Amino acid sequence: MSDKPKIKVATAWLGGCSGCHMSFLDLDERLIELSKLVEFTASPITDVKEIPEVDVGIIEGAVCNEENEHVLRTMRSRCKVLVALGDCAITGNVPALRNPFILEEVMARGFVETESTQVGVVPDPTIVPRLLKRVRPIQEFVQVDVHIPGCPPNADTIWYALTELLAGRAPNWDERTLSYD
Ligand code: SF4
Repeated sequence: MSDKPKIKVATAWLGGCSGCHMSFLDLDERLIELSKLVEFTASPITDVKEIPEVDVGIIEGAVCNEENEHVLRTMRSRCKVLVALGDCAITGNVPALRNPFILEEVMARGFVETESTQVGVVPDPTIVPRLLKRVRPIQEFVQVDVHIPGCPPNADTIWYALTELLAGRAPNWDERTLSYD
Protein backbone atom coordinates (compact mmCIF):
# COMPACT_ATOMS: atom_id res chain seq x y z
CA MET A 1 0.00 0.00 0.00
CA SER A 2 1.24 3.50 -0.90
CA ASP A 3 2.42 5.84 1.89
CA LYS A 4 1.12 8.78 -0.10
CA PRO A 5 -1.51 10.65 1.92
CA LYS A 6 -4.99 10.30 0.54
CA ILE A 7 -6.65 13.18 -1.27
CA LYS A 8 -9.37 14.59 0.98
CA VAL A 9 -12.72 15.14 -0.71
CA ALA A 10 -15.98 16.64 0.54
CA THR A 11 -19.24 16.81 -1.37
CA ALA A 12 -22.48 18.71 -0.82
CA TRP A 13 -25.77 19.04 -2.57
CA LEU A 14 -27.55 22.36 -2.74
CA GLY A 15 -30.71 22.84 -4.82
CA GLY A 16 -30.71 19.65 -6.86
CA CYS A 17 -32.46 16.30 -7.08
CA SER A 18 -29.54 14.20 -5.72
CA GLY A 19 -29.26 12.58 -9.16
CA CYS A 20 -25.66 13.72 -9.55
CA HIS A 21 -24.69 12.00 -6.30
CA MET A 22 -26.62 8.90 -7.40
CA SER A 23 -24.65 8.96 -10.64
CA PHE A 24 -21.47 9.19 -8.57
CA LEU A 25 -22.55 6.01 -6.75
CA ASP A 26 -22.94 4.42 -10.20
CA LEU A 27 -19.13 4.27 -10.25
CA ASP A 28 -19.86 0.91 -8.58
CA GLU A 29 -16.69 -1.16 -8.22
CA ARG A 30 -14.58 1.83 -9.24
CA LEU A 31 -15.53 3.32 -5.83
CA ILE A 32 -13.27 0.69 -4.24
CA GLU A 33 -10.38 1.76 -6.47
CA LEU A 34 -11.15 5.38 -5.65
CA SER A 35 -11.23 4.73 -1.92
CA LYS A 36 -7.56 3.66 -2.06
CA LEU A 37 -6.61 7.15 -3.22
CA VAL A 38 -9.30 9.34 -1.71
CA GLU A 39 -10.67 9.94 1.77
CA PHE A 40 -14.30 10.99 1.70
CA THR A 41 -15.12 13.40 4.51
CA ALA A 42 -18.33 15.43 4.72
CA SER A 43 -20.94 14.35 2.20
CA PRO A 44 -24.63 13.48 1.98
CA ILE A 45 -23.45 9.89 1.50
CA THR A 46 -21.28 9.76 4.65
CA ASP A 47 -22.06 10.43 8.30
CA VAL A 48 -19.68 13.42 8.44
CA LYS A 49 -21.71 16.61 8.08
CA GLU A 50 -19.20 19.36 9.10
CA ILE A 51 -17.01 20.30 6.11
CA PRO A 52 -13.31 20.10 7.11
CA GLU A 53 -10.31 21.49 5.18
CA VAL A 54 -10.13 19.34 2.03
CA ASP A 55 -8.27 19.13 -1.27
CA VAL A 56 -11.35 18.81 -3.46
CA GLY A 57 -14.87 20.08 -2.83
CA ILE A 58 -17.67 18.83 -5.08
CA ILE A 59 -20.96 20.69 -5.31
CA GLU A 60 -24.20 19.38 -6.80
CA GLY A 61 -27.14 21.72 -7.31
CA ALA A 62 -27.87 25.39 -7.75
CA VAL A 63 -28.07 28.10 -5.10
CA CYS A 64 -31.77 28.36 -4.27
CA ASN A 65 -31.82 29.54 -0.65
CA GLU A 66 -29.73 31.14 2.09
CA GLU A 67 -28.56 27.81 3.45
CA ASN A 68 -27.32 26.74 -0.02
CA GLU A 69 -25.28 29.94 -0.22
CA HIS A 70 -23.80 29.36 3.24
CA VAL A 71 -22.83 25.75 2.44
CA LEU A 72 -21.29 26.81 -0.88
CA ARG A 73 -19.22 29.61 0.66
CA THR A 74 -18.09 27.28 3.48
CA MET A 75 -17.03 24.63 0.95
CA ARG A 76 -15.16 27.23 -1.14
CA SER A 77 -13.29 28.54 1.90
CA ARG A 78 -12.24 25.01 2.94
CA CYS A 79 -11.23 23.39 -0.37
CA LYS A 80 -8.33 23.91 -2.75
CA VAL A 81 -10.20 22.84 -5.89
CA LEU A 82 -13.94 23.40 -6.26
CA VAL A 83 -15.85 21.19 -8.69
CA ALA A 84 -19.32 21.99 -10.05
CA LEU A 85 -20.97 18.58 -10.54
CA GLY A 86 -23.86 18.65 -13.00
CA ASP A 87 -25.91 21.18 -14.89
CA CYS A 88 -27.81 22.59 -11.89
CA ALA A 89 -24.53 23.72 -10.31
CA ILE A 90 -23.22 24.98 -13.65
CA THR A 91 -26.29 26.75 -15.11
CA GLY A 92 -29.15 26.63 -12.58
CA ASN A 93 -30.89 24.10 -14.84
CA VAL A 94 -34.11 22.60 -13.42
CA PRO A 95 -34.37 24.59 -10.14
CA ALA A 96 -33.94 27.82 -12.13
CA LEU A 97 -37.24 27.12 -13.92
CA ARG A 98 -38.87 29.04 -11.08
CA ASN A 99 -36.99 32.24 -11.92
CA PRO A 100 -39.68 33.75 -14.20
CA PHE A 101 -42.21 33.58 -11.32
CA ILE A 102 -42.68 35.92 -8.36
CA LEU A 103 -41.27 34.38 -5.19
CA GLU A 104 -44.51 34.76 -3.20
CA GLU A 105 -46.39 32.91 -5.95
CA VAL A 106 -43.83 30.10 -5.87
CA MET A 107 -44.18 29.75 -2.08
CA ALA A 108 -47.98 29.80 -2.27
CA ARG A 109 -47.99 27.19 -5.03
CA GLY A 110 -45.59 24.94 -3.11
CA PHE A 111 -47.07 25.18 0.39
CA VAL A 112 -50.69 26.32 0.07
CA GLU A 113 -52.18 25.56 -3.34
CA THR A 114 -50.79 22.08 -4.00
CA GLU A 115 -53.70 19.74 -4.75
CA SER A 116 -52.86 17.38 -1.86
CA THR A 117 -52.56 20.19 0.71
CA GLN A 118 -55.48 20.54 3.13
CA VAL A 119 -54.40 23.38 5.44
CA GLY A 120 -51.41 25.03 3.85
CA VAL A 121 -49.16 27.62 5.45
CA VAL A 122 -46.05 29.26 4.01
CA PRO A 123 -43.39 28.22 6.55
CA ASP A 124 -41.45 30.67 8.67
CA PRO A 125 -37.84 31.13 7.41
CA THR A 126 -36.60 30.02 10.86
CA ILE A 127 -38.00 26.58 10.00
CA VAL A 128 -37.27 26.36 6.26
CA PRO A 129 -34.29 28.28 4.79
CA ARG A 130 -35.38 31.51 3.08
CA LEU A 131 -35.49 31.24 -0.72
CA LEU A 132 -33.38 33.66 -2.73
CA LYS A 133 -35.27 35.77 -5.26
CA ARG A 134 -33.58 33.93 -8.12
CA VAL A 135 -31.96 30.52 -8.41
CA ARG A 136 -28.36 31.01 -9.53
CA PRO A 137 -25.46 28.78 -10.59
CA ILE A 138 -22.61 28.46 -8.15
CA GLN A 139 -20.07 30.44 -10.17
CA GLU A 140 -22.19 33.56 -9.60
CA PHE A 141 -21.12 33.32 -5.92
CA VAL A 142 -17.65 31.78 -5.83
CA GLN A 143 -14.78 30.81 -8.09
CA VAL A 144 -15.27 27.37 -9.65
CA ASP A 145 -12.21 25.46 -10.86
CA VAL A 146 -13.68 22.45 -12.66
CA HIS A 147 -17.06 21.81 -14.31
CA ILE A 148 -18.50 18.33 -14.88
CA PRO A 149 -21.46 18.82 -17.25
CA GLY A 150 -24.53 16.63 -17.61
CA CYS A 151 -27.93 16.06 -16.00
CA PRO A 152 -26.67 14.02 -14.42
CA PRO A 153 -23.12 13.50 -15.65
CA ASN A 154 -22.92 9.74 -16.14
CA ALA A 155 -20.52 7.60 -14.12
CA ASP A 156 -17.96 7.42 -16.94
CA THR A 157 -17.89 11.20 -17.20
CA ILE A 158 -17.45 11.56 -13.43
CA TRP A 159 -14.74 8.91 -13.45
CA TYR A 160 -12.88 10.70 -16.25
CA ALA A 161 -13.01 14.01 -14.38
CA LEU A 162 -11.93 12.53 -11.05
CA THR A 163 -9.06 10.51 -12.48
CA GLU A 164 -7.81 13.57 -14.35
CA LEU A 165 -7.92 15.59 -11.13
CA LEU A 166 -6.10 12.83 -9.25
CA ALA A 167 -3.43 12.92 -11.97
CA GLY A 168 -3.04 16.64 -11.34
CA ARG A 169 -4.79 17.73 -14.55
CA ALA A 170 -8.02 19.58 -15.29
CA PRO A 171 -10.45 17.53 -17.40
CA ASN A 172 -10.32 18.57 -21.05
CA TRP A 173 -13.88 18.51 -22.37
CA ASP A 174 -12.75 19.66 -25.83
CA GLU A 175 -10.92 16.38 -26.28
CA ARG A 176 -13.57 14.14 -24.82
CA THR A 177 -16.91 13.25 -26.35
CA LEU A 178 -19.54 13.40 -23.66
CA SER A 179 -22.00 10.54 -23.53
CA TYR A 180 -25.39 10.93 -21.95
CA ASP A 181 -26.54 7.31 -21.69
FE1 SF4 B 1 -30.58 16.42 -10.67
FE2 SF4 B 1 -29.79 16.92 -13.18
FE3 SF4 B 1 -29.59 18.80 -11.33
FE4 SF4 B 1 -27.95 16.70 -11.20
S1 SF4 B 1 -27.98 18.25 -12.82
S2 SF4 B 1 -29.07 17.63 -9.47
S3 SF4 B 1 -29.34 15.07 -11.98
S4 SF4 B 1 -31.51 17.87 -12.08
